Order: sequence, then structure tokens, then C-alpha cells
Amino acid sequence: MADFDFDLFVIGAGSGGVRAGRMAAAMGVKVAVAEDRHLGGTCVNVGCVPKKLFVYASHYAEDFENSRGFGWTPGDAGFDWPTLRDNKTKEIERLNGIYNNLLVNSGCELIHGRATLVGPHTVAVGDKTYTAERILVAVGGWPNVPEFPGSEHVISSNEVFYLDEFPKRAIVVGGGYIAVEFAGIFAGLGAKTDLIYRGEMFLRGFDNEVREFTAEEVAKKGINLRFNTNITEIEKQEDGTLVATLTDGSTVEADAIMYATGRNPKVAGLGLEELGIEQGKNGAIIVNDDFQTNVPSVYAIGDVIDRVQLTPVALAEGMALVRNLYGGQNQKVDYDLIATAVFCQPNIGTVGLTEEQARERYENVDVYKSSFRAMKHTLSGSDEKTFMKMLVDRDSDKVLGVHMVGPDAGEIIQGIAVALKAGATKAVFDSTIGIHPTAAEEFVTMREPAK
Ligand SMILES: Cc1cc2nc3c(=O)[nH]c(=O)nc-3n(C[C@H](O)[C@H](O)[C@H](O)COP(=O)(O)OP(=O)(O)OC[C@H]3O[C@@H](n4cnc5c(N)ncnc54)[C@H](O)[C@@H]3O)c2cc1C
Repeated sequence: MADFDFDLFVIGAGSGGVRAGRMAAAMGVKVAVAEDRHLGGTCVNVGCVPKKLFVYASHYAEDFENSRGFGWTPGDAGFDWPTLRDNKTKEIERLNGIYNNLLVNSGCELIHGRATLVGPHTVAVGDKTYTAERILVAVGGWPNVPEFPGSEHVISSNEVFYLDEFPKRAIVVGGGYIAVEFAGIFAGLGAKTDLIYRGEMFLRGFDNEVREFTAEEVAKKGINLRFNTNITEIEKQEDGTLVATLTDGSTVEADAIMYATGRNPKVAGLGLEELGIEQGKNGAIIVNDDFQTNVPSVYAIGDVIDRVQLTPVALAEGMALVRNLYGGQNQKVDYDLIATAVFCQPNIGTVGLTEEQARERYENVDVYKSSFRAMKHTLSGSDEKTFMKMLVDRDSDKVLGVHMVGPDAGEIIQGIAVALKAGATKAVFDSTIGIHPTAAEEFVTMREPAK
């Protein structure tokens, strides 16, 4: 057997790379992990974690307001952006340290710097080269910002977490979950917020009724939804104001314009073309069911393979890969019934098929749904509503999809995802006794399908 520096060389210390690297090292594999930016990757530094902290922050304005109906007189509540930004950064730095310890303590050799593939078994970092029996590419993705006149003035999710000043007026461009979440964050923290999306309705891929219900709810929170339009040009005025011209010729002024218009695999200059590694749309690395590329010693997981761009998916892929390579197992990642949440206000939680997908795949679909004002809002005075929907195959009674728009929808749907994974039927939901008084109990008391 050839003599390599390492058994496994992982490029990228993000969600997938860290999990795979430390799991393999804990199994006695000689592992190196190279990282050129920040330990923990997108999720920890400029993704899920700081975003959720900002989401928490953005809810307070509404909480203060809602408290009045419960007898509170909130004081003079002011928001200080540097406090939130810097406390968040401190927490992220703490997490960076934890990731460092996780890797080092599990026995990985951590290499700081940008890695490129220079051979099927060789990686270069700076002026050093390393050989490895296997190479795992876990480099994640990068925000895609289109180029147009003035596009140099926009920010992406990479910059939004570190702004010097919080904008009084913000524009978010995009129709995916990141755009919707950041519109909620800006609005909740007090910015006049416009959400611009070129399509008819945001959140493509989600259940249509969920999309429409969410649009109504987020509009109630003061977000100005502008669908079927796009920015053609941005001009920066002397006082720093950004003037965005839209496709219909109208203009909108803002202090910050954030583009959340998709993410592409971060493969530029990685050496993939030189090695002949097959790539698909937007450069995504093509792998088989075992995450192996067409160059047998090179594997890839996470956002760079562009299957499902979510942290728990990158983790599952990393774990399956390591168990199969070094643990003698033959696991496949099951991409079915992946529950997800959108942390807008109110949250969306979803698992399984949308009504549109269910009707395409099944002949007889029963739809159970409910829309109501949550108990809290009987006193808070808020006009926020909650929506729940369940899709059932009438022939087998199997629950095909469950969707919710409402507070803590992500927390609630996680439990329901377990039930769906276990193959729960509607009869199982019906025989489950609810927890009272909660919103979630509605999922076990929906008796009549919608006409
Ligand atoms: C704003 C935002 C919010 C998100 N919110 C959620 C959420 O709520 N829930 C959820 O599940 N997912 C969320 N995601 C998605 C999630 O962050 C990603 O799916 C996840 O981080 C993918 O993990 P990964 O290991 O594939 O890549 P990453 O976590 O991106 O890690 C890749 C790492 O590789 C490093 N790297 C890249 N190239 C090189 C190189 N050549 N050499 C050395 N190192 C390199 C990068 O610096 C990075 O640290 C969010 C993403 C964003 C942008």
C-alpha cells in the first residue's frame, strides 16, 4: 500500500467536514482538516446560528407590544445594534473555539489555509502539499449575487452579520427562506423593509397555501412585499443612500440592500477541472450514493454536492460516509421526509409532501386544515394567525405531509417528523391525546377533511 501522510484529508471545516473529520479521527483514522476562513463553516459563522440569534432579537419589539394586553407597561425600549452584533460575534467566537477543540481533541490535524486538489491523492495548502488515501471535499457554498449596474453596493448573508450600522431602511432581494427570514429580522429590529422578488410568490417549493398565508402574515408585520419585480440598477448618493430602480421604473431608497438570491457551490479554483472531477449545475460536484466522485479517491458532501442545502443533511452525509468507509457499514442517507423551518414571523415548519405534490402522486388526498388566532393573542391584541395543514392518503390513511405557520412551528414539526418517519396514519394522530392548551394539539384534533 502506498504511504500517505493521511488516511483522510478533509477540505473545509464546516458542518459536514467537521463531523466527518472528527468521527473518522475518533475511529483511529489519521485525519487532516483544512479550513481557510472560519471553523464551523457557514452554519456557525454566517448562517443558521447567528441568524437564529438575530431572529430572537427581532421578536422583542412585538413581545413588548403584546405584553400590554397582559398588564405590562413596557419601558422605553430602544434597540442597540452594536450590542446585538458584538454579543453575537462573541458567541460565535466561543463556538469557533469549541470546534477547534472538537477537532484537535478527536485527533484531527488542523491545517489553516486554502486547500486545492493537485492530484487524486494530493492536496496543496499554501506552499505545502499533503498526500492522503482519500480526500473529502466539504467546501460548502457561497452567496450568488448577480452583476448589474450598482451591484457593488449590495451585501449578502456574508456581510449582514457584521454591519457597522443598522439600516433604517432595508431592501431584501430574493424569494427563498433566507430572504424571508432576513426581511423579518430587519423589520422586527425596526427597519422599514421591502422584500423584492421577481416571481409571483416567494418560497417556491413550499405548499402553496402556506406561501400565501405566510405572505399575508409577514405583510401584517409591516414588510412591504413586492413580487413580480426586480432591481435593474442601484445608485449610491453622497449621503450613502442607495436608490434602487425597479423593473417598472419606480425607485426605492434604502440604507442597505441585501441579496439572498441563492448559493452556489464554492468550487472556483479548487482544482476540480484539472482532475476531471464531474460537476453539474453551478459547479456542484457529482457524487454517487456513497458520496464518491468519478475520481475514486475523492469524495464530497454537504452544500457542494447541492442536494439539500441544510446543516443536518451535511451532518448526515458526513456520518454515513465515515461509517461506510471506516466502520464497515453500508448506510444510505435517506433524503425523504426532511423537516425544515423558516424562521420568519411567524415561523413555518414543514415536513413531507405539499398539497400539490400529494395530488400529483396520490389519487385520493384528504386535506385537513385549521386557521386560528392563538390563545396568547386573545389578550395581546395581535392579529397574527396560525395555520396548520395535514395531507392524508385516503386509501392507506398515511399522513403524507404536515405544514404549520405559527409560533414555534419548527419546534412542533420536528416531533411530527418523527411520527411521519415512523409511517404514522391519520388514525394514529386521531388516537393521540393532545397537550392542552397548546397550538400543537390542533394536529391531533383535526377531524373533518376540508371540502
Ligand atoms: C444565512 C444562512 C442561513 C442558514 N440557515 C440555516 C438553517 O436555519 N438551518 C439549516 O439547516 N441550514 C441553514 N443554512 C445552510 C447551512 O449553513 C449549510 O447547509 C451548511 O453550512 C452546509 O455545510 P457544509 O459543510 O456543506 O458547508 P459550510 O458549512 O459552508 O462549510 C464549508 C467550509 O469550507 C471552507 N472552505 C471552502 N473552500 C475551502 C478551501 N478551498 N480550503 C479550505 N477551506 C475551504 C469554508 O470556509 C467553510 O468553512 C443557512 C445558510 C445561510 C447562508
